[in-house]
Amino acid sequence: MTVSIYDLETWDKEYVWHPFTQMKVYRQEKPLIIERGEGSYLYDIEGKKYLDGYSSLWVNVHGHNHPELNAALTEQAGKIAHSTLLGSANVPSILLAKKLVDNTPPNLTKVFYSDSGSTSVEIALKMAYQYWKLKDPARFSGKKSKFISLREAYHGDTIGSVSVGGMDTFHHIFKPLLFDRLEAPAPYTYRLTENNDEEACKTMCLDALEAILKERHSEVAGLIIEPLVQGAAGMITAPVGFLRGVRELCTRYNVLMIADEVAVGFGRTGTLFACEQEQVEPDFLCIAKGLTAGYLPLAATLTTEEIFEAFLGEPEELRTFFHGHTYTGNQLACAVALKNIELIEREDLLATLPNKINFLAQKLIPFRELPHVGDVRQQGMMIGIELVQEKASKKTFPAQMQVEHQVILRARMGGAIIRPLGPVIVLMPILSMSTGELEQLIDITYEAIATVTVRAHALQR
Ligand SMILES: *Cc1c(COP(=O)(O)O)cnc(C)c1O
Repeated sequence: MTVSIYDLETWDKEYVWHPFTQMKVYRQEKPLIIERGEGSYLYDIEGKKYLDGYSSLWVNVHGHNHPELNAALTEQAGKIAHSTLLGSANVPSILLAKKLVDNTPPNLTKVFYSDSGSTSVEIALKMAYQYWKLKDPARFSGKKSKFISLREAYHGDTIGSVSVGGMDTFHHIFKPLLFDRLEAPAPYTYRLTENNDEEACKTMCLDALEAILKERHSEVAGLIIEPLVQGAAGMITAPVGFLRGVRELCTRYNVLMIADEVAVGFGRTGTLFACEQEQVEPDFLCIAKGLTAGYLPLAATLTTEEIFEAFLGEPEELRTFFHGHTYTGNQLACAVALKNIELIEREDLLATLPNKINFLAQKLIPFRELPHVGDVRQQGMMIGIELVQEKASKKTFPAQMQVEHQVILRARMGGAIIRPLGPVIVLMPILSMSTGELEQLIDITYEAIATVTVRAHALQR
């Protein structure tokens, strides 16, 4: 049986339920069906090619269909695809754990594997919670059990990670299922201050966090934060020194710090991990998206010797961390992740970034002059362009106009795939993209925003 393009489009609409997607709208449009990828480009089933301007949802590092990553995968497949980490070990997961420990902040020495960003966060939350129970039951049992997270935080979609989430649109409906969290303000400079005053924003947010900690620290097990950039919230970039300030407050008030580097890890912010930029050593580091360079689902939660040791004891003491997933430490995924880090090192990928980051910064300047661009945020290779209907009031376009969606469709016609987050157009180029490709991506995005927003505004009046 040969399958036609028509069949695929029909069956997609008939059988596949897409994530984070209003299927009523989706089914009214022609689906974009990707068939293959090559370097910085994606190709659909009609053979049309597009720049991958969102790194296939923030995961791709070295480009698609990379010969060495492919080889690492097939070589491992020729040995074994999977055996369990419950009670036994495997070669790639050992090598990768050592590699991760060597390349993350020095205090992190233990690696716990899972399969997605959400699970890496669940694990950190559960470990932090159990840690306080184990540490000094008489003093802490039942007391240090709450978590602090930021407004607009996104840490994944499982119930635990949603519990520490702060995005009303995604999370409100599940409220009755969630555990309570304490909310600290997000350092959203554009919306919290008059003239993008980063210093004022930082002070305001750290003071508010300190007020919470001062009053409630005895109940708080941990604080979770997306270092430097709150990604899903719309690329909210933190003022310099904010992360460092949060670390100091956690230390002062005896609260464990969980760094969710699922999005910002693996070079996105310009350094391998975002925490490095402010010399921060978190108590937990959650990594996923870029870990396998966009090849396979794999995640890890790294933690310290002190946390690990609290879980040691005789089996009957029940200090064990009773958590694990069937595919924990999967060999194929670990083999590719190892090759990903080897490639980053061998090609000195991080040293190539400052040029690209500066180039992007230059290319982003004209966006600020556009009548409906309220704010342009960049941290390394992560970019958010916030659209507004009116600059003075910072009012966004009415949701039903779907302006952001129209921008994305127009960019697609221009040959680039990008995605919005609410009123923010996100650019997340593949780290290996050439300057020429970055220029093309920015030009397509500029044209799409300029055309669609002006037209939408005219329609409104
Ligand atoms: C994407 C993301 C997650 C969730 O990762 P999944 O692999 O989709 O479960 C968690 N935290 C942050 C900061 C993310 O960007």
